[in-house]
Amino acid sequence: MYKRRSYLSPRRSGYRSQRSGRKASKCLRTIMWILTALCIILVCAVTASRAKAIQVIAAESEPVSGSAQDGGGEIADIVRAIADSQRLIVQTETERIERIMEEQKALEEQAAAEADRAVVIDPGHGGIDGGCMFDDVPEKEINLEIAQAVAERLEKMGYTVILTRTEDTYVDKAERVRNANSRNARLYVSIHQNSCGVKSVEGIETWYDENDGTGESRRLAQSIQQETVGSTGAVERKLVPDSELCVLKMSNMPSCLIETGFLSNKEERARLCTGAYQERIAEGIAQGIDQYLSGAV
Ligand SMILES: [Zn+2]
Repeated sequence: MYKRRSYLSPRRSGYRSQRSGRKASKCLRTIMWILTALCIILVCAVTASRAKAIQVIAAESEPVSGSAQDGGGEIADIVRAIADSQRLIVQTETERIERIMEEQKALEEQAAAEADRAVVIDPGHGGIDGGCMFDDVPEKEINLEIAQAVAERLEKMGYTVILTRTEDTYVDKAERVRNANSRNARLYVSIHQNSCGVKSVEGIETWYDENDGTGESRRLAQSIQQETVGSTGAVERKLVPDSELCVLKMSNMPSCLIETGFLSNKEERARLCTGAYQERIAEGIAQGIDQYLSGAV
């Protein structure tokens, strides 16, 4: 019986082994070829994909390019708007400064006009300084009543009136004049009441600074005395030159001091205490000031 050989001869075994190796090598090469082909296909696919993507981007870039132009226009519009806004801000600021300067100039002109029309009316005494007093009638009260009535009339005439006091308070004489000088007022008129040991003495007399160097104080005093005597019918006394009265000596403007009557005279005191007579005195003083300032005297 043929006994099948359970083994290959070395020669045949080597052959088979060699053949098997060739098969494996062939198989490996085939796999390599397949892998290479796959790689090539993959590379081609990727390349094609990228090309298509580039085409898509390029195609999409057209409208994007148009938008860019539109965007460029919008940027230009924004730049122009900012420039316009800046010009508007500069223009507005310039106009604001010009407006402030015009307002400042108007205020200065108004202040100059007011100074040109400013007069100081000084109700003599006040507070602890009552002035002279007869029969319980204090001079300071009559002075204030008349001064306020003068102020009302002058303000109606368009003057700016500066009262050295508006109530029963004490204000130093030098302080009154300093305030008047600081306001560059046109004139200073102080209002007082007189007294005399001789009870029969009455009438109006006006004091002025004889050393003012211009004669304006005398002209002012004369205008006021003349008008006040005319409006009251009071006795006209003389103009009194004096260079030592504080309010006359210290003032930088024409100044005078009017004594509108004698409280020591019973009849005149009674008249001085009435509102009607005070109004007539005030009318005379205001008219005298207005005529002096208007150059009528
Ligand atoms: Zn007095």
